[in-house]
Amino acid sequence: MAIKLVTTAAELRAESARLLAEKRGSSQGLVPTMGALHTGHAALARTAVEQNDVVVASIFVNPLQFGEAADLERYPRTLDADMALLDAEGVDLVFAPSVDEVYPGGEPLVRVTSGPLGEKWEGASRPGHFDGALTVVAKLLHYGLPGGPAADGGAAAYRAYFGQKDAQQLALVKRMVADLSFPVDIVAVSTVRNAEGLALSSRNRFLSEEEREAALALSRALRLLESHALANEPLELDTAVALVESQPLVKLDYFDVVDPRTLEPLAENCKETPFRGEGLAIIAAQVGPVRLIDNVPLSS
Ligand code: AMP
Repeated sequence: MAIKLVTTAAELRAESARLLAEKRGSSQGLVPTMGALHTGHAALARTAVEQNDVVVASIFVNPLQFGEAADLERYPRTLDADMALLDAEGVDLVFAPSVDEVYPGGEPLVRVTSGPLGEKWEGASRPGHFDGALTVVAKLLHYGLPGGPAADGGAAAYRAYFGQKDAQQLALVKRMVADLSFPVDIVAVSTVRNAEGLALSSRNRFLSEEEREAALALSRALRLLESHALANEPLELDTAVALVESQPLVKLDYFDVVDPRTLEPLAENCKETPFRGEGLAIIAAQVGPVRLIDNVPLSS
């Protein structure tokens, strides 16, 4: 394997500087993950490798963003397989720090506050989740800064890659980077799905065969809205909601059409009159032991 594993921020910086110099590179990409990687993560890595001379993937299961201790404990950890997947995509470095490396003084007193955008939807069901997620993303964006100059002596370009799958996280990361002037470009990568339409997720492995089948209602309902939007028809959200609710194994939490940046629901008449413009259909449901989220951008 050409890929190299580093576990401290100091090693990451030194290796990044060495690689930028060795490759005479002018750009670095960061792909933050929690590991248990699948084809969705591979798409992020591939995009980063296409667009940058040096690519770092981080693997860190962040205790700060988990509500229940049990969810944190059972989160899958598959470092060897993750390294092989990232190596196959051409990633240069894996940064897999310990909890002590990231939080040497224990839980941080000062954190990033996600504000009203972090309190709705996923935030309403998972209080504190986005403050924890943004706090670690802020730290990872700092760790992943290019360790040295570009080959021409100027500053190396810096990009970080996030999945559209986690639409609220993506919107929040974009706001944090803009509001707090982080020197990084955020690149969004489309959601990767299995052949039946289920959005890939590290937690899907906990679904039984029956639950996996039932979970397909989420992407089917989203596709229904997408087809109405593309055809400039009323979205018929009620029909899509009924489709999901007809599955006894699926407990719907929310399903709505929102503004992609503010995540505020679009006015009711946008759902009842022919759809025009931009929107984002978002859905979350409990299926067996797993909370599933999915979304689809709508445009006409
Ligand atoms: P996670 O390891 O689940 O925290 O995810 C790490 C990154 O991969 C996040 O930016 C996710 O949005 C992204 N990601 C997870 N699942 C998918 C998927 N099915 N398609 C595209 N990106 C994904």
